[in-house]
Amino acid sequence: MTFDRRRFIAASAAAASVPLLSACANPGTSSAAAPYPAFIGRPAQKLLPSRKAPRIVICGGGWGGLTTAANLRQLAPQAEVVLLDRNPVFFSSPLSNMWLVNMLDGELLTHDYLRVAHKLGYLFFQAEVQQIDRDQRTVTTSVGTLDYDWLVIAPGIRYNYESWFGNDRAAANAARQRFPSAYASNAEFLTIKRALHHFKGGELVMTLPPPPQRCPPSPYERACLIAWHFKTHGIKGHITILDHKPAIAPIGLGYKRAFEELYKDFITYVPNAHVQEVDPFNQRIRTAAGDHSFDHAILMAPHQAGDLAWLAGAVTPASNGWADMDVRTMQLQGDERSFVIGDAIGAVSTLDFRYYPKAAHVANRLGRIVAYQISERIAGRTPETRLPDNLCYMVVNGTPGQALNVQFDYSFDDQGRIKQVQRDYNERTPALFKDDFRWADFMFEEMFGGLAPPVLPYPAYRA
Ligand SMILES: Cc1cc2nc3c(=O)[nH]c(=O)nc-3n(C[C@H](O)[C@H](O)[C@H](O)COP(=O)(O)OP(=O)(O)OC[C@H]3O[C@@H](n4cnc5c(N)ncnc54)[C@H](O)[C@@H]3O)c2cc1C
Repeated sequence: MTFDRRRFIAASAAAASVPLLSACANPGTSSAAAPYPAFIGRPAQKLLPSRKAPRIVICGGGWGGLTTAANLRQLAPQAEVVLLDRNPVFFSSPLSNMWLVNMLDGELLTHDYLRVAHKLGYLFFQAEVQQIDRDQRTVTTSVGTLDYDWLVIAPGIRYNYESWFGNDRAAANAARQRFPSAYASNAEFLTIKRALHHFKGGELVMTLPPPPQRCPPSPYERACLIAWHFKTHGIKGHITILDHKPAIAPIGLGYKRAFEELYKDFITYVPNAHVQEVDPFNQRIRTAAGDHSFDHAILMAPHQAGDLAWLAGAVTPASNGWADMDVRTMQLQGDERSFVIGDAIGAVSTLDFRYYPKAAHVANRLGRIVAYQISERIAGRTPETRLPDNLCYMVVNGTPGQALNVQFDYSFDDQGRIKQVQRDYNERTPALFKDDFRWADFMFEEMFGGLAPPVLPYPAYRA
């Protein structure tokens, strides 16, 4: 028997005449208050009926979370997969520096959660995750509570403004609102873009945070592209890069040449510029390498694991502001049902590099690895240990399009420590520029099941 449209409407009308809503009345409100409609989300409300299949809840739908969801549908088709993100749409940080200077259309970076969830067969809720109770295995969100069998925490990063301003919220708010960096929040990209395109000239300062930081080569890429924008539009702007590090890294040589050969009059690089004091009201910065005033700034406070990792108790006193997990499985220490992926993860090695690069490519690889880990455990098997790799293209010129590249491989040494091999491609070439878009196409294909508009062919820049 089919449940035709007429019958559905009749059933709905009948249901509406039943005093169903009274069951949802908000206790504690006066009798004059209208009862809540059933689907208005509240944290105390159950978001889904009791589960019939293993439920995997993924908190954070960025690069790591989306990759995990897509791979879980392939590897554990019997499981129920729920993806949660506070944002209504996905916006890509990789390639965004080109969007800032109008080399790329924002449509290529913006993707639809609902459509991909529907196509790939998982559930998406736009919701703020407010609390995670790992003993009870529940996740409380702004629109309801969920229980889970397996949890994936993928919240990205937060800004550690406390290390600059202590408890001074007014100063932190001024820095965030007036001089954001667009490293942790999508909304900030719009603020920076507007500021850049209204910039009439003068001193633009960029502070770079101490390692480990999200995507270490990308602030230099941003400096190059802003300088390119100044150069091509005849803007008398100058960029000072205040780097915490003693030298540009990675791809140091390639960037050094780009600064000197392409943007000599536009970029000054200052190493060892440990930030000592930031005054967002008077637009001044004191660093170990000198004091600077600015007309505009991109202020990058130090990075840490995203708020959610802290709310979930994933950050421990020993883990230095990042999640504390088993580097072979990505399970949180002492909790075999909870995994952490992406930029939020803590140190993975006692060797010098200590952390995987906090990059979308690594988040993608860890998303695959954790999807595999969970699917094997659901099937009652013991998963093998898998390690990620990393690959980053960094654009340094728009006319002609030219990029640099850095690659990382990981394996175990004979003492069981994770070791890193890094390869820098310092020669800026149009081929690497094109490869950047090819890389993004591959990634979007995996995350969005073929629904993302192709980035290639790259739309040529028109001045
Ligand atoms: C300018 C820039 C350029 C970059 N370029 C590159 C590049 O070329 N190549 C590269 O590999 N990497 C690049 N990166 C780094 C890359 O963006 C990150 O490494 C990647 O996004 C990490 O993925 P993630 O899943 O850990 O975090 P994210 O992608 O940030 O995802 C985290 C998600 O969690 C959500 N979230 C957090 N807390 C909550 C909550 N409480 N409730 C609900 N949702 C929540 C957020 O809304 C977000 O969608 C770049 C980054 C920047 C800023």
